[in-house]
This record gives sequence, structure tokens and C-alpha cells, in this order.
Amino acid sequence: MGKAARNRVLVINSGSSSIKYQLLDPESSVVAASGIVERIGEDDSAIEHRAESSTTERRVAIADHTAGLRLVFETFAATGHDLEEEGVRAVGHRVVHGGEVFYRPTLIDDDVVATIADLAALAPLHNPANLAGIESARALLPGVPQVAVFDTAFFHGLPAAARTYAIDAKVAAAHGIRKYGFHGTSHEYVSGRVAELLGRDPSEVNQIVFHLGNGASASAIRGGRPVDTSMGLTPLEGLVMGTRPGDLDPGIVAHLARSAHLDIDQIDTLLNRDSGLKGLSGVNDFRELRRRIDSGDEAARLAYEVYIHRLRRYLGAYLIELGGVDAITFTAGVGENSPQVRADALAGLARFGIEVDPAANATGDRTARRISPPDTPVAVLVVPTNEELAIARAARRVVERLD
Ligand code: ADP
Repeated sequence: MGKAARNRVLVINSGSSSIKYQLLDPESSVVAASGIVERIGEDDSAIEHRAESSTTERRVAIADHTAGLRLVFETFAATGHDLEEEGVRAVGHRVVHGGEVFYRPTLIDDDVVATIADLAALAPLHNPANLAGIESARALLPGVPQVAVFDTAFFHGLPAAARTYAIDAKVAAAHGIRKYGFHGTSHEYVSGRVAELLGRDPSEVNQIVFHLGNGASASAIRGGRPVDTSMGLTPLEGLVMGTRPGDLDPGIVAHLARSAHLDIDQIDTLLNRDSGLKGLSGVNDFRELRRRIDSGDEAARLAYEVYIHRLRRYLGAYLIELGGVDAITFTAGVGENSPQVRADALAGLARFGIEVDPAANATGDRTARRISPPDTPVAVLVVPTNEELAIARAARRVVERLD
């Protein structure tokens, strides 16, 4: 192993009941191992660990994130990577909300931990889970620098007109209310790849990126800098998602409280877990949604139509904001894998220079590629996102400054 192993970064994405992780070399992008611990705190927790060509699966009760991460390290050791012996260059943590404070990858110390905890008021579902991962990793790998990479960071410099909500300015200032934006690591990585693929400097490219996973967001990027994005103070705003509604009349919240007598936590749960595709059709996974549409399920069809309608609304808004675009890109689980979503999102827009070539769109190719005809003014692209690689590179840049 030796030197190569010590250059690796362990990337941790710690959610409320799961830990996704990857051990990779930020320079070569080679992944040594990756996996997921799921259902932490439940009786049937499990780990799935992939290293080289083998997959290890174990079902075992995992009480909390520290126990989960300990099991990850044991599994690494059992499959030929003893992290303590081999050494890793850094641990990179995905942190959802950086608020106004954190907009660069940040070396973690006690103060940073305390501030991320304070920011939990803005992201109660996410930041505490991210912190659990950070605390566990600090305890288990005490000598290794830990770096936080924030989902909001890329959008920190959004123009004031795009980031400001039209509510009482004093209330907004007192409570940190602004558009923060999320999935920033992905939008930054993918938009950078787009410029590379077009063979142009990022400063010359106007583009729209659709990150369509279980969560979904769109961004408008001019010359490498975002000028708008669809998620807001929280990841609820914008596009229709697996379990979140995206844009809503805010009056619905007050109406639900008065009329359905839901308290604020019940409304939060309704909006975060039981809305979006799932709320409309009963399922949040796009593959199952497609099966239901194909078998004549009307609720599934409507859910799909609402999803596409919202997507096109953002497309129209961002085309005008940018005054035209060089590229429109799809990424993440749905964006990379659903030719139908891509075709329906961009249907009938030839007059704007936007076309999708059906054959190029339909290939199951997993690499970054153009799916518009070669001579059309707007390049339509599919670019696989790689948030882990982006986090690993960011973490490496931070630790290089320490050397
Ligand atoms: P997240 O990171 O937000 O959990 P992903 O980017 O992994 O999500 O995307 C997950 C979603 O991608 C799944 O819910 C599923 O709907 C969708 N998806 C994955 N594979 C396919 C596929 N082959 N066709 C259509 N949708 C897919």
C-alpha cells in the first residue's frame, strides 16, 4: 500500500439513519472501497461494503453513528484496508447547511463543530446527522484532519435579487432567512465538467444544470458562477422531488394548521417525507413510477406530468435570466438514467435552439455525453455527478495548505 494509500481521502455522507462512505484517491479518482450503513438505530440495520470486485453484506443491530462507523472501519480492516494502519490523508464530510458562515471547505475543530450545531436551526433534519458522522470520525481517527464541505457553499454569492425573499427585511435578517441553495457540490462539479466537455473556459459558458435525484434542484450558472438556484432556505423549495413538493403557495402551511389542525412538526413531516411524487402517486422511485404509468395508473401519470411541468417552468425562467444558454445538463439518479424525463423536459423547444437527439438520448451509456444533435446551438448533456470525488478534492486542497 504505502504512499498511494496514504493519499486517499475517506468521504463520509452521514444522514439521519444512514452513513454513505467512499475511500478514494482524489488525484486519480480511483475508488478503493465504498459502502453504506443503513437503518441505524433500528433492529435490522445493515452494512453493504464494496471493495475491488467483492461486496460484503452484514445485518447487525447498529445503535448509533459511532457504532456504524466503527463497523465500517472493521469491515475495511476485514477486507484488506486497515484505515488506522494504512493511514488516510483526510476525512471529508458532506455537511448540508453552512448558513452565512461557511462557504469554503473548512478544517474541522471544536469551534466549527459548535457552529455547525448552531446551524441546525436552519437544517434540523440534516446538520445533526452530519455532526454525528463528524464526531464519530474525529473519535475514531483522532490524528487525521477532518474537513467539512458544505452543500450550500457554491451558492453563497448568489446575486441579492435572487437570494432575497420578499418578506419583512428585519424578520429575515433576524432569522437568517435567504435562499441558500443545496446540492452545491454537485452543481459546481457538473458545471465544471460541462465547460471541460465543451472545451471552453468556465468563464465563457452560460448553463443550466438539473440535478434530479431523490432530491432535485436546478441552477443557472453564468461564467462559472451561479446566478440562481431552485432550492431555498431549506431543500424544500423548487422542483418536485421524490418526497418533497418543491414550490408551494406558502398559504398552504397556515391553511393546514387551521383546517387540518396539523402542528408544525406534522406539517414539516408532510412536506419533507410524504409529498412530491410519493404524495401524488404513492411511490417516490422513478422506476416504480414508470411501471405504474405503463400499467395505466392515473395518479402516477399525473405525478409525472406535475414533475415535468415544474421542471420546464424553471427551464424557462433560467433561460430568460441567463439571456440564452450554451448548455443544459442532466445529472443524478433520474437525470442520468431517464431518457424520457430528458426528452419530455426539452420537448418542442427547437425554436430556442434546444433539441434532443432520440438515438443519443436512448443509449444506456454511463459516461458524460452530448445528447443533442451536433449542430444545434444549445448543447444538451448528460454528466454523471460525483460529489464524493469533489468532496475528496476539496478536502485534499485544505490539508495541502496545512503541509
Ligand atoms: P439521492 O442521492 O438524492 O438519494 P440519486 O441521485 O441516487 O438520489 O437518485 C435516486 C433516484 O434515481 C431514485 O429514486 C430513482 O427514482 C432514480 N433512478 C435510479 N436509477 C434509475 C433508472 N434506471 N431510471 C429511472 N430512474 C432511476
